[in-house]
Amino acid sequence: MTFKDLKIIPSILKALSKENYATPTPIQEQAIPAVLAGRDLFGCAQTGTGKTAAFAVPIVQLLSEQHSGPNAQRRIRSLILTPTRELALQISDNIQAYSQYTDLRCISIVGGVSQKAQERSLHQGADILIATPGRLIDLMNQKCIDLQYVKILVLDEADRMLDMGFIHDVKKIITNMPSKRQTLFFSATMPPEISKMVKSLLINPVKVEI
Ligand code: AMP
Repeated sequence: MTFKDLKIIPSILKALSKENYATPTPIQEQAIPAVLAGRDLFGCAQTGTGKTAAFAVPIVQLLSEQHSGPNAQRRIRSLILTPTRELALQISDNIQAYSQYTDLRCISIVGGVSQKAQERSLHQGADILIATPGRLIDLMNQKCIDLQYVKILVLDEADRMLDMGFIHDVKKIITNMPSKRQTLFFSATMPPEISKMVKSLLINPVKVEI
């Protein structure tokens, strides 16, 4: 199995080959076709399995196949929520790599850095936003973020977001985006609160376990 067999477009194949991704990992083989087909996904996978590319590669592909518009008119079409600053920056680096030959713009919003710079960056427009819940809520409360155009939502490491007390913020963020969207949900464990979220957020999801 190759990324080409998974119907990945040439601009992304070129980037993957530059990053030395020769073949897809098992989670990528299962998740990529489902995400490209527009399905909701529940992934039970740890970091280190290639989980990031499993959701990020098909998101880059789906968004780059639609028009993104000039910078100032770019709308956030995919939101990726993750529990920590480190994970957010790692996901952002990966997406920059996968999308380097597309015209997509991806930014990250995390705590612990100047909010002014993030506001400027948001003002320039982005197609993909990677965020930790706390800082995103702050910027939403200040009306700096419009989530009305989000088509694909990713909840990464949902169980850790729960453990870290972010679940209320996550639910509040979700109420500010369209209910008609594709949702990709990743969690390594399934405590009752997580099963409840899976049931309420995902519609007929494809399940991928590694
Ligand atoms: P992740 O589980 O997403 O944190 O990925 C773990 C590491 O594997 C990261 O350094 C990725 O860049 C790398 N990686 C992911 N998918 C592949 C692949 N198909 N081939 C080679 N390396 C990969």
